[in-house]
Amino acid sequence: MKDKIWLSPPHMSGFEMGFVKEAFDSNWVAPLGPNVTAFENEMCRYTGAKNGVALCSGTAAIHLSLILLGVGYGDDVFCSGLTFAASANAIKYVGANPVFIDSDLASWNMDPLLLAEALESAHKKNRLPKAVIVVDLYGQCADYDPIIEACKKYDVPVIEDSAEALGAKYKGRAAGTFGEFAVLSFNGNKIITSSGGGMLLTPDSNQAAAALNLATQARDPAPHYQHSKVGYNYRMSNVVAGIGRGQLKVIDERVAARRGNFDFYQKHLGVFEGIRFMPEPDWSFSNRWLTCIIVDEAKLGVNREDLRLQLEKDNIEARPVWKPMHMQPVFKDCLSVGGRVSEYLFKDGLCLPSGSSLTVEQLHRVVESVKSILKTDG
Ligand SMILES: *Cc1c(COP(=O)(O)O)cnc(C)c1O
Repeated sequence: MKDKIWLSPPHMSGFEMGFVKEAFDSNWVAPLGPNVTAFENEMCRYTGAKNGVALCSGTAAIHLSLILLGVGYGDDVFCSGLTFAASANAIKYVGANPVFIDSDLASWNMDPLLLAEALESAHKKNRLPKAVIVVDLYGQCADYDPIIEACKKYDVPVIEDSAEALGAKYKGRAAGTFGEFAVLSFNGNKIITSSGGGMLLTPDSNQAAAALNLATQARDPAPHYQHSKVGYNYRMSNVVAGIGRGQLKVIDERVAARRGNFDFYQKHLGVFEGIRFMPEPDWSFSNRWLTCIIVDEAKLGVNREDLRLQLEKDNIEARPVWKPMHMQPVFKDCLSVGGRVSEYLFKDGLCLPSGSSLTVEQLHRVVESVKSILKTDG
């Protein structure tokens, strides 16, 4: 059996150990310390964001955003329906109700027209959401101009879930700079990893200070331990931030490698009429975190699952596109606006191995595995 090809494994740059060693040498092993501050500053420089707060996960960043926007029990929060569950889980942490908005086919992200309609209808019912969580899916920004315009009209704040999209751009502007808050993740499968971690970005320095306070147990400024709010232990450690710094140094190379994977697959598999690729609208520069294809059974004679199982047989990890939130047992009682598009993308969509460390040989192996099943049935 050939070596396993993973969907999106960690890819170290070689710069990480230097920063980690500094943390050990200076005994800055405990939370906070120079790597954390430097990582935040370097991330702000890279994205153009004004303030960054390094946290233990992207999920923690979503949770703090919701708290800082005053979202609480019984409130509604609109959220992209086609996403990883972490986008929506934090809505439940604060006791609010997710309302899922479907994708459009142009970007696979939140449909701006559907959002505008949903906001107007919520306004008429006097039930506007307290926030809208917009996901930058698979490394591609959502269509922010119309989304932000629709939200501004009703004064509803946007949280950008850019966990998958570091390095992507919308009309030349970096992912992570849209909305009142933006969320990054450095989980093991993301385009860069700190071994696990996240960051909250915000243009508002007061909100950044408030996030920092909440993330460190919400201590009041007093020499004794005094607390006026419920706090969290969400801060990133100085060792972890060292790994993140070593990874951020090569982010542009990682984006280029992932975009290269996409181009390779498109060149070799795009010749099949029944295989289509996740589109990149002209306003988008995707980091192509994962290469996603649509498998058209009518044209290919095999479906997405046939293809995934063939890859699995060849020791290659591929995954269906995210199962939409409105189809998830845990969110079955939540409202959904539309849903057909995300259902279709889930049914026929497949994510191919997309790591930045994939070799040309491995890419060929994936392509050959796909072609093998097409030949038998074609
Ligand atoms: C990974 C991911 C998250 C969560 O990030 P963690 O750092 O794993 O908590 C949130 N949203 C999306 C869309 C993600 O892909």
